[in-house]
Amino acid sequence: MDGITASEVAGLGVGAILFCVTVAAPKVDAFISASQRRSLGMCKKCGNLRVIACSGCQGVGFTKNGGPFSFIPTDDFSFGDGNGNAPVRSKPCTNCNTKGRINCPECHGKPQI
Ligand SMILES: [Zn+2]
Ligand SMILES: [Zn+2]
Repeated sequence: MDGITASEVAGLGVGAILFCVTVAAPKVDAFISASQRRSLGMCKKCGNLRVIACSGCQGVGFTKNGGPFSFIPTDDFSFGDGNGNAPVRSKPCTNCNTKGRINCPECHGKPQI
C-alpha cells in the first residue's frame, strides 16, 4: 500500500467539513437568532433596542486619526494636546454624533409592537 489510504482521505474530508462548520458557526448562529427574533416580533437587527452600535466607531463615539473612516475635519479637533505630550488624536464620529449608537434603520420610527 502506498500513498494516502482511504481512511486518511476520509479523515481529511471530515477535517475540512469540521473546519467549514467552525468557520460558518457564528453566521449560522446569527441567522438563527435573527429568525428567532423575527418570529418573536422583535427587530432582527437590534432586538427592539431601537439603536445599534455605530459601525463607524465601533460604539466608541470617536474615530482614531487615520482610521478606516477618515475624513477632513472642519476644526483641528484633538485631545491631550498642548503640553508636549503625545496627543491622542481622535475625531468625533460623524456617523453617530459621538453617541456610539445610531438609530436602528430597521425599526426606528416604526410603532413598537
Ligand atoms: Zn460612531
Ligand atoms: Zn431595530
